Amino acid sequence: GENVKKFAHKLGVEVGAKHTFLTTSATTALWVSLKALGIQANDEVAISDFSFPATANVVEDLRAKPVFVDVNFDTFNMNVDDLISKITKKTKAVIFVDAFGNPTGLHEIKDICDDHGIPLVEDAACALGSGEYDIPCGKISDITCFSFHPRKLLCTGEGGAITTDNDELAKWLESRLLHGAN
Ligand SMILES: *Cc1c(COP(=O)(O)O)cnc(C)c1O
Repeated sequence: GENVKKFAHKLGVEVGAKHTFLTTSATTALWVSLKALGIQANDEVAISDFSFPATANVVEDLRAKPVFVDVNFDTFNMNVDDLISKITKKTKAVIFVDAFGNPTGLHEIKDICDDHGIPLVEDAACALGSGEYDIPCGKISDITCFSFHPRKLLCTGEGGAITTDNDELAKWLESRLLHGAN
């Protein structure tokens, strides 16, 4: 109801994103983000190899192939060179994980994705309030997914959110998340 709208609005203001959507969990947020990007069977999705299982499970669930990318030992975040070596014609998305809520290296990965025309999804399950170069998580990637599970920084019982500045994706999400009821 109204509280959900208020929460989504406040979250959008907090991270500076143009569009914010609430979901039942970060897992749902990741799954629906890949759906919005049109990920389907046999597509490859490059993901950080150090994460919670949900990051790979949503890719598997869409019958796509998770391609594991090594992380740096100093940040536990995706390694640029290993990502470049694993990008193929089939790579349809990259999921960067903010390990322990730390987005270090995210801008560099975004540049690589932009160079290759591959959308960047951010698993920011633990990263609400974090940012890189003074830009908040939620504003850097093409799509960012947050979690409000009891184990995370902010808890709503269970819950998640998606933020994006992309109008086209937002239109798709707005319609699908409410089963076309809006
Ligand atoms: C907790 C977590 C998730 C899953 O969040 P839920 O809201 O429980 O679905 C996904 N990715 C990472 C990195 C997490 O830490």
